[in-house]
Amino acid sequence: MADTYKNFINGEWSATASGGTFENRNPADPTDVIGVFPESGEEEINEAVKAARSAFQGWSHTPPPHRGEIIRKVGDILAARKDELARLATREMGKIVAETGGDVQEGIDCAYLFAGEGRRLFGETIPCEFANKFGMSIRRPIGVAGLITPWNFPMAIPTWKGFPALVAGNTLVLKAAEDSPATAVKLMEIFEEAGMPPGVVNLVHGHGPTAGAPLVKHPDVGVVSFTGSSETGRLIARECGGMLKRLSLEMGGKNAQIVMDDADLDLALEGALWGAFGTTGQRCTATSRLIVHKKIAGQLTDMLVERAKKLRVGNGLDDSTEMGPLVNEKQLGRVAGYCKIGVEEGAELILGGERGSGKLAKGAFFMPTVFRGVTRNMRIFQEEIFGPVVSITEIGDFDEAIETLNDSAYGLSSSIYTRDVNRAFKAVEDIDAGITYINGPTIGAEVQFPFGGNKNTGNGHREVGTVGLDVFTEWKAVYVDYSGKLQRAQIDTFEG
Ligand code: NAD
Repeated sequence: MADTYKNFINGEWSATASGGTFENRNPADPTDVIGVFPESGEEEINEAVKAARSAFQGWSHTPPPHRGEIIRKVGDILAARKDELARLATREMGKIVAETGGDVQEGIDCAYLFAGEGRRLFGETIPCEFANKFGMSIRRPIGVAGLITPWNFPMAIPTWKGFPALVAGNTLVLKAAEDSPATAVKLMEIFEEAGMPPGVVNLVHGHGPTAGAPLVKHPDVGVVSFTGSSETGRLIARECGGMLKRLSLEMGGKNAQIVMDDADLDLALEGALWGAFGTTGQRCTATSRLIVHKKIAGQLTDMLVERAKKLRVGNGLDDSTEMGPLVNEKQLGRVAGYCKIGVEEGAELILGGERGSGKLAKGAFFMPTVFRGVTRNMRIFQEEIFGPVVSITEIGDFDEAIETLNDSAYGLSSSIYTRDVNRAFKAVEDIDAGITYINGPTIGAEVQFPFGGNKNTGNGHREVGTVGLDVFTEWKAVYVDYSGKLQRAQIDTFEG
């Protein structure tokens, strides 16, 4: 019998009124049912938002250092249970345990970062035009935050949205991804154990159109923070735009690693392997394009294929596995479809392009895939695939490399391997992306830095870092005039 999980609303665990449920299965072994979850809809969203709305008064008036203290305890519990949580996340969405451990670690890092913000939440003091007048800016919470998250970072993303929202004094409703709901349940249990008051954090399970959409539309949700595909992001943006609702979007990527002819090729190879095949290519920051100088393209391609074909593909729970399955059969169909498109477009498929066979046949396994001869007009160069597929495009010089990298509708992560410091800094200046790595792969963000992207990747916001608070706070300018007289800004002048 599979475990039955519930929603977490107002500090209580509850099923849906209709009793509807959905199953979550292990993509490495579809006979392994992780659990049965409530198929929620508008009714449950309304209840959760109501609970969050009522809890807002108390929580927003709780001193921020105390709010931070609860978040710190959440971090401590995550740390104590890291291995168990990582294993559950691997069962849910497939990536190897070392990586789900990293995912939980990112949650821990976020907890400690934002716990500290409880004692900062800095505003500014700013000089005024007149004597006997004091000016400052302060952050205020918005109200109820609606968080909608994907499955590829089942712990990191809910926490990197949730902790800044909470420390700033907001309450929240999380609509977790339908492919990783159990990890979200564990997070709620941990909030409960850490002493979070009822209603401050709420979890509603369900699918996008039926549970996500009513959360976005709810008039009492003051801010929506979404991570997922650009298609869904567009729908949500339309809805929020009509309501003039604050919205942060983190969406797709088509990230590239440039390898110049002066690069350390062994290092560039390690970066490409990790960037392209880590998380089975299902990171928004995954290396999907390798832009390689023609002088070393042949050599690097051979090195890449040699190593990629030896990657151990299998169940992520097995410590020897280097690459797990895709998240589900639907995603596998999408990745296989792109491989077909690549071949039809005239790119040369030199490795993979097919699902796993033999022992791997029963799971959603797809083999590491490399295309070469990929040109900028091809769909596999332009569109997000979200799988273990990397395409190689040759360039002749640095300017062409940057132009090729920037030829994308997305602008999330980027990387350049070169030993030339001048070129490295020029790349930092000229690459149109939210993240640039020098001599490192396109994946590996740290929570104390702003995370997010340009162009179709985002809508101008950044997550985590200290700027991560901006999405969840409104600035208030405060003027205190203690002169005892009317001092008219821009009209009266200071007379000393
Ligand atoms: P998705 O857009 O299908 O789903 C994301 C979330 O949105 C899920 O919780 C889903 O239930 C919900 N949703 C779907 N339709 C909705 C609707 N109409 N209204 C409200 N909510 C709705 O994306 P996915 O397949 O889960 O994740 C993969 C995508 O996420 C990729 O494109 C990837 O690049 C992107 N991603 C981006 C980042 C980033 O920070 N930029 C990080 C991770 C993943």
